[in-house]
Amino acid sequence: MSTHKQTERSPVVAIMGHVDHGKSSLLDYIRKTNIVEGEAGGITQHISTYEVQLEDNKRITFLDTPGHAAFDTMRHRGGTIADIAILIVSAEDGVKMQTKHAIEVIQKNKIPFIVAINKIDKPAANPEKVKTDLLEQGIYVEGYGGDIPFSLISAKTGQGVEDLLESLIILAEMEEMVGDTDKSATGYVVESHRDPKQGISATMVIKNGVIAKGQFVVVDDSITPTRMLRNFMGNNIDTAEFSSPIQLIGFDKIPSVGSRFATFETKKDAEQAISEFREIEQELAEGIDMLNIPEGTALVPIILKTDVAGTGEAIAEHIESMTSDDVIFKIIKKETGSINESDVKIALSDPNTVIIGFHVDEDANIKNINDYESLVIKTFDIIYKLTQWIQELYDQRRIKKEIDTMHGQLKVLKNFSSQQGQTLVGGSIITGAVSKNEQCKIIRRDELIGRGKIIALQQGKTATDRVLDAGTECGVMIETNNDIIQGDIIETYTTEIK
Ligand code: GDP
Repeated sequence: MSTHKQTERSPVVAIMGHVDHGKSSLLDYIRKTNIVEGEAGGITQHISTYEVQLEDNKRITFLDTPGHAAFDTMRHRGGTIADIAILIVSAEDGVKMQTKHAIEVIQKNKIPFIVAINKIDKPAANPEKVKTDLLEQGIYVEGYGGDIPFSLISAKTGQGVEDLLESLIILAEMEEMVGDTDKSATGYVVESHRDPKQGISATMVIKNGVIAKGQFVVVDDSITPTRMLRNFMGNNIDTAEFSSPIQLIGFDKIPSVGSRFATFETKKDAEQAISEFREIEQELAEGIDMLNIPEGTALVPIILKTDVAGTGEAIAEHIESMTSDDVIFKIIKKETGSINESDVKIALSDPNTVIIGFHVDEDANIKNINDYESLVIKTFDIIYKLTQWIQELYDQRRIKKEIDTMHGQLKVLKNFSSQQGQTLVGGSIITGAVSKNEQCKIIRRDELIGRGKIIALQQGKTATDRVLDAGTECGVMIETNNDIIQGDIIETYTTEIK
């Protein structure tokens, strides 16, 4: 019997918006004003995720990741890293392209959000314009026909930020987010890297459950003991629970950003989870074998890694739409995060596989592996370059076909002589023209029985280069090793490789 201890869970928040609208400034301001100096002592490195504790003991976790990445999910498993979004819009500039994209991501993932109208300290600030811009995007803020909360803030002076944090807490309470303290921690990897001294570490956010020292954490097929468990400030801790960012050091492989992690009591259970993961990967790879690839068709298995799930879907759709009878582009794995070891492993199972990254990099440890030189790994930042490359790949991989064009057919009326690979026949043109030096097929009862070459033609008593018109009779010297008999069809043709 298990008792489930469902308790309120504090929100994990991501800030999204157009570049320069103040995302980093807001994150910095909140961190500086809510995390006691010294507590964070000794950390010089960039903090990708932090947790603040407000006066009434309410906590909020902020993700400093590219906004969209915060919502990237292993969709099939459900869930997102962030619970709530702050859509930040500069009161000077209004809604811009990336604001629109942020809105799309928020809406697609059905994420509750708050609008922060920033830079209100600036003389040119025009919050009303932001609200009407948002209306045009179908975002109805409070007082403008809707109930989406907004705060007027200045990430520079701090004006309105407290109000924003309060709104976040209220929104979180309305969402009734809960966590279970009886469960082992699960969550997502926010950042990972290899440190030359410490080894492989990852920053993760717990979305449910509790983690403690003495356990094991698995991300895809990488594993670490929880011996080096730290809070986001790098201080050693014994335990942490949902919504907290943690750091773990000691992974055997670099875990992919955006991947889910799970915690296990024993190493055996953790290893079991890894083998299940590997089985799934294997099935994915084998899924290709199930495809019946017609002869003459090239199969190009593709592993697609992108920064944003939405982009991945769009690119995958585009790539698969380029599939034809000649080349089948088959996305065997589509995931967010950098290109990692498991991608390479899957790719190595079929030498035709290509790994494509869009707005992502290769994991550092992959760059050091030399044994996959044959593997095609390409990364892009510009979509049209990617599609251009796919087009080139299409031309490269297409299995070149020999296409024969028929020029004429002649029916053999008599075999006059056959010696030393040369056969002289008399025949009558069925269609087209038969010319000297052309290749020919020898066809008997609709079956190709051999090939040869026309080396001489004679019409009446005179040698000629070409005989045409149906019914015209002629003598033909054919160079061939096949026998030719009355009734055979001699068909002249040229071959092109297309
Ligand atoms: P991000 O690209 O969204 O992370 O934007 P930043 O936080 O880097 O801000 C872009 C620029 O706007 C920087 O020069 C900031 O100092 C400035 N900025 C951000 N918020 C404010 C604000 O509230 N008021 C003023 N005056 N400047 C701001």
